[in-house]
Amino acid sequence: MQIIKTVDDLRAHRRALSGDVAFVPTMGALHEGHLSLIRHATTLASHVITSIFVNPTQFGPNEDLNAYPRDLERDAQMCQSAGCSIVFAPSVEQMYPSDEATAVHVRGMTNTLCGPHRPGHFEGVTTIVTKLFNAVAPDVAVFGQKDYQQLAILKRMTTDLMMPIRVEGVPTVREPSGLAMSSRNRYLTDPQDRTRATHLARALTAGWAAWQQGQRARQGLLDAAQTAFEQGTWSIDYLDVVNPDTLHAQERFEHGAVMALAVRVGSTRLIDNIRLDEPLPALLHQYL
Ligand code: AMP
Repeated sequence: MQIIKTVDDLRAHRRALSGDVAFVPTMGALHEGHLSLIRHATTLASHVITSIFVNPTQFGPNEDLNAYPRDLERDAQMCQSAGCSIVFAPSVEQMYPSDEATAVHVRGMTNTLCGPHRPGHFEGVTTIVTKLFNAVAPDVAVFGQKDYQQLAILKRMTTDLMMPIRVEGVPTVREPSGLAMSSRNRYLTDPQDRTRATHLARALTAGWAAWQQGQRARQGLLDAAQTAFEQGTWSIDYLDVVNPDTLHAQERFEHGAVMALAVRVGSTRLIDNIRLDEPLPALLHQYL
């Protein structure tokens, strides 16, 4: 496996590859969730390129850009063990060499769920992913369903901009407690915070159970999920049920729905989601 740090070098290596390429963009601090993306990517193409880049433009002014964990050596070893062929780990100067005037913005789907809570975040994501797509020139790109809104926005972006790249989603990998794996889970050092963090999974499970019992009204589904947050003081950024394609709320959902939430546990912001109309993830059965 090669570790490449410049766009020119990456392009030279990419041109020399025969066969198709699957691409897995990440911000590093890798865990099993990222590795499942890389493993899935190995089934889709002859070569897998993983990028490791903590993208400054998707962090807000009060977010954890400087504290975000970075360990390229460990990440590269994990990429290799999962079957990756090339790690692309550019500097900020490589990806943002000049004072840029161009950004990629997807309308509509970016102003629900996380959008209002993280102004500029999705524009940072769509812009860096476009730049990475232009540098890597993949045939297929793989993203996690854990970031459901991001995945939906990127699918829409590639369609609208006629990018010749297929976008695939991979199911969320969870810890034994049901907590969705995240690079930010390492901030949860207090055992009480770990327990509090399981309430995201409990809320989603309660929402899913209500759907199973025939509840189709947004408010009814939200009331069911809200029971997970009855005890204690919670800082909930949002808890919502949205249309899986448009990401907008509806009064009723006859054909399928995504329940999504973002909650602050201590100073750590955690997100999670599930499809209410699909089987419950195995590790959430413990909360039924
Ligand atoms: P990040 O490094 O957090 O930007 O995530 C890089 C990619 O890994 C994104 O496509 C995420 O959706 C995906 N990802 C993060 N956590 C998980 C998880 N627990 N399960 C599956 N995919 C994940």
